[in-house]
Amino acid sequence: MTLYNRKILTDIIKTAVVCFFITLVFGVKAQAMTIVLDPGHGGIGTSGAGAIYPPYMEKALNMAIASQVKSELEGAGITTYLTRSGDASLTLDQRAAYAKSVNADLLISIHFNSSGGHNLNGSEIWTSLYGTYYTTGYAVGSNIMQQLTGLGFMSKGVKTKLGNSGDYYGIIRYGVGLGIPTIIVEHCFMDNAIDRAILDSKGVSALAHADATGIINYVNSVGGAGSTIEKSNPIALEAGATSNGNTAGVAAPPTIKANTGAAASTASSAPAASSGFPKDASGNIIFTDKNGTTGTFTQDEWNRLLGNWAYTGNPEYYIRQVPVGDLNAMIGK
Ligand SMILES: [Zn+2]
Repeated sequence: MTLYNRKILTDIIKTAVVCFFITLVFGVKAQAMTIVLDPGHGGIGTSGAGAIYPPYMEKALNMAIASQVKSELEGAGITTYLTRSGDASLTLDQRAAYAKSVNADLLISIHFNSSGGHNLNGSEIWTSLYGTYYTTGYAVGSNIMQQLTGLGFMSKGVKTKLGNSGDYYGIIRYGVGLGIPTIIVEHCFMDNAIDRAILDSKGVSALAHADATGIINYVNSVGGAGSTIEKSNPIALEAGATSNGNTAGVAAPPTIKANTGAAASTASSAPAASSGFPKDASGNIIFTDKNGTTGTFTQDEWNRLLGNWAYTGNPEYYIRQVPVGDLNAMIGK
């Protein structure tokens, strides 16, 4: 190594060291908008699939939307994280705690709706009841709603709901309990013909783009990606609040979920356990759907289908609601 080369090397090292300290002092302290997206549901168990109306499964829709919104927000310079990166089961307080751990300015929980009578439709956004949590949530929610209605969905409003312990919905209650403005976006009703027609024709990607556009419009309205949302005092949870089961994020059996934002039904309100299904001589399950179409499934296939309905209720009840053709599609037959 010549003396000249050594000098260049030394300069490079000096520059690197200076850059490192600039990053340490200014970069880390520099505040910028941080948004956490929460793809609702995930994993097997009570928080598993969410609503299922083949070919749509809520947890997968939520993840597809969240992933695209993340990349669009990052494209706009907004730091964005997801509460889950795979098909994982997380509690609502874990999701809020994660948002807190990355110092989120906003927590946006992504969901799809359904109703017992399949007769409700439209987009519905929930925000906190309290002070700046309300105004911030209302503002970002209204921006998202404007984009969703632009796709053709009816607006059911940007709303609040009171429970026994403050905000009714768990993810909002936990979020504001940690000082983070939190909203739930119920994009549309997966089980409703009007909403399905829009979902099918526009495509899931259009919904994600609508969310991202609404969020970016909101962020620009408060100073852009380089700014932050002023933090308010956390809304204290009352004693026992954490044990409330009233959530948009967990445990709602798929076909009997909340009407118009009413309480998510509990598993115990699902119909009584079935008496099982007939089997052929080889032990395959013979299933006749409500249209009278019969399908034959191996025990392995059946288990995979049951796994999609891994609720605390009775999974076979939910299978009965689905045409044979859709069941086949779900297991790739
Ligand atoms: Zn949901």
